[in-house]
Amino acid sequence: MMGHDWQGWQGDSLIFKTASGNTTFKADATLLALGGASWPRLGSDGSWAQILKAEGIDISPLEPANCGFAVEWSDIFRQKFSGHPLKPVIAAFKGTKIKSEIMITEKGIEGSAIYALSSVLRQALRSSDSVFLELDLKPDLTLDAIESRLKKPRGRDTFSNFLRKALNFSPLATGLLMEHPDRKILGDYKPAELARLIKSCPVRLYEAFSLERAISTAGGIRFESLDQNYMLAGKPGVFIAGEMLDWEAPTGGYLLQATMSTAVYAAHRMMAWLESTEF
Ligand SMILES: Cc1cc2nc3c(=O)[nH]c(=O)nc-3n(C[C@H](O)[C@H](O)[C@H](O)COP(=O)(O)OP(=O)(O)OC[C@H]3O[C@@H](n4cnc5c(N)ncnc54)[C@H](O)[C@@H]3O)c2cc1C
Repeated sequence: MMGHDWQGWQGDSLIFKTASGNTTFKADATLLALGGASWPRLGSDGSWAQILKAEGIDISPLEPANCGFAVEWSDIFRQKFSGHPLKPVIAAFKGTKIKSEIMITEKGIEGSAIYALSSVLRQALRSSDSVFLELDLKPDLTLDAIESRLKKPRGRDTFSNFLRKALNFSPLATGLLMEHPDRKILGDYKPAELARLIKSCPVRLYEAFSLERAISTAGGIRFESLDQNYMLAGKPGVFIAGEMLDWEAPTGGYLLQATMSTAVYAAHRMMAWLESTEF
């Protein structure tokens, strides 16, 4: 029902807040599919977590997933490149490599390559103030090929012009190199050393962007709180589906797939429960 904000239970009735005050409804069975807590302005604000916690349901903390991360860009880099994409690029963290694109934002970095790594990055940031992501800024050339191109005489070209001519480097890729602490001496790097930096350019990440800006939510109702029918233990007739559950998945349709799969399953089990053939 539109305009009905679920507030929990009163006895065995559901309570809803509406524009004309609270109303209750006694349901034969309930399927809760109230989403996660990301992009709350779209309607799913995770307020159910407090309601269900108060009912003794075990919920792992709701955290941002498929999200960006904070980076302390220099002022000049931020002003020049916020809103600019870089592709193709390989983003790597602890042995996981994703070839896709990144997006520079005022406060950090996001984009599909970062979203795909967000789960491992978030976990690493639990035990550390910051972590280093490594970017391969020229993923289609081998280290040796880059080195040999960098061996060409630079002539009177500036560092950025030289990189543009030798490697077809974009201003953003050069900008990322110039965020390195060695920025003032990069021009003196030997070709092999510079090639290594281009293949593995470190970017220091601090914290995940907030849930408000994340595409999806990690955490949720632990599967241990459900029976095999996705019915809440201790709450007969209350079934759960979608992002309320404690799973996470990358973007690219996987979130919708998991949402719909759990919804279809929970709905079928709820129908079976209502018909009481198997319970
Ligand atoms: C910007 C953005 C981009 C995305 N892109 C992709 C993508 O490319 N691929 C992909 O697979 N997934 C994507 N997703 C994720 C996908 O949309 C979600 O995983 C999916 O919609 C979750 O479905 P759900 O039914 O669990 O929750 P939701 O779709 O969030 O639906 C929950 C509904 O419950 C309502 N609700 C919440 N609380 C209450 C309450 N107390 N009372 C009454 N109603 C309530 C909400 O208003 C909402 O209508 C994206 C999400 C966002 C935010």
